[in-house]
Amino acid sequence: MRDHFEVRDHDAAGRIGRLEVPRADLTVETPALLPVVNPNVLTIEPERLRTVFGAEMLITNSYIIRSTDRIRDRVLAEGLHEFLGFDGAIMTDSGSFQLAEYGDIDVTTAEILEFQRRIGSDIATPVDVPTPPDADRDRVERELATTERALADAAAAATGEMLLNAPIQGSTHTDVREAAGRHAAGTELDVFPIGAMVPLLNAYRYADVVEAVAAAKRGLDPDCPVHLFGAGHPMMFALAVALGCDLFDSAAYALMARDGRYLTVSGTEHLSELSWFPCSCPVCVDHTPAGLREGDADEAERLLAEHNLHVTFEEIRRIKAAIRSGTLLELVDRRARGHPAMLDGYRALLDHADQLAATDPVSKDAFFYTSHESARRPEVGRHHDRITRLEPPSTLLLTESKTPSSHDYDAVWRVKPPFGPFPRALSETYPLTAETPERTDAAAQAAAADGVRRLADANPETAITLGHDGWDSAALAAVPDRVETEDLRTLGR
Ligand SMILES: [Zn+2]
Repeated sequence: MRDHFEVRDHDAAGRIGRLEVPRADLTVETPALLPVVNPNVLTIEPERLRTVFGAEMLITNSYIIRSTDRIRDRVLAEGLHEFLGFDGAIMTDSGSFQLAEYGDIDVTTAEILEFQRRIGSDIATPVDVPTPPDADRDRVERELATTERALADAAAAATGEMLLNAPIQGSTHTDVREAAGRHAAGTELDVFPIGAMVPLLNAYRYADVVEAVAAAKRGLDPDCPVHLFGAGHPMMFALAVALGCDLFDSAAYALMARDGRYLTVSGTEHLSELSWFPCSCPVCVDHTPAGLREGDADEAERLLAEHNLHVTFEEIRRIKAAIRSGTLLELVDRRARGHPAMLDGYRALLDHADQLAATDPVSKDAFFYTSHESARRPEVGRHHDRITRLEPPSTLLLTESKTPSSHDYDAVWRVKPPFGPFPRALSETYPLTAETPERTDAAAQAAAADGVRRLADANPETAITLGHDGWDSAALAAVPDRVETEDLRTLGR
């Protein structure tokens, strides 16, 4: 049992939690965004990250500090919090990223953890091996064995109150990711970064990100705080949170600003191509794109970085509100429209609807059917499971609207796409209170037809008639032959 992480609210597999960071004497609310601070280049002063943007935690790289003569002794003498001027929690990375980039680093897990302890890190990282996507299986397993030895070295180190990261690797082999998650959860370590995601994120391979995270989550325990390492674009936070990620880090806000790139929740714009700022943050209210282009370049970079952080933190707050109100999947649906690759990610998420259903609340305020993807949400599958436990009478009419021509039934139940049939007594319960469009679509009809099939299969003795409002032929083909169907639109003509 991990007593430093407590989950307060759920929506899908997303959660609002509280991560206790004892060395910082602080409890961080999750989902949380950790701005990445380069100890050599402070684009935005860390103190401003806390006071202006509300960052409770940041992340910096202990390997860079250790390798930079100019700052190492000062950080050792003053401590990391004093050096950066930040009184929140500080997570430190170990040099694994440099290992992935350059193939070799000159430090062991024991040495870098001791260095992180001495500079006052609150959450430290061992030297894991970030295996890139699409690596062959031999390499993935060999490198994972090295990572698992690093986790064992970390668990054995004398680290006091400092929390420890247990990175999860496995490349794009989902069974290896799952096993790595299970191994990490079995250690005494505290926080669980899912690693080597940057190449997938940079290539917009969001469906592969979803598969890797879903696999790691299957191996982890529900009380494991999960960090999607290297994910800093606000466009994909809602998707990642819905899968059960709790921590994000953003280097993107500064790196993209350096290239003149302007983040939004639906993608990335370029300052050179903007005529107006579609945002009301303090930067965008006080400046114009033309003004930034014509002014001092360093100042423009700093202002772009500030805008990028504003939208990033705003999205985190919006996600927390969505979890609290049970509308996280509606938010994911909206974000999925920003880019076709995001839609792939959302569709991959819905492939794991059963996994999301485990923590999805049985009751929420509202279900809005906003796209044909909504037909695959966990609430629909859960209703279909419930259908098999219902007890229908001998003769049953299911109707989407009017009563069909014959009236001789023991009971009349409603059928509502995408859920399917239910007795009227359930009509005021979630999710059957859903707001659905009057112009229903083939996906909703097909899901409802599947519900009819489940009811018919579970009750072979019941004679069932289905009255529908002109369902698509593919949906009707999924209804068992023994169910009589009638198109209600042909009535009363
Ligand atoms: Zn702005």
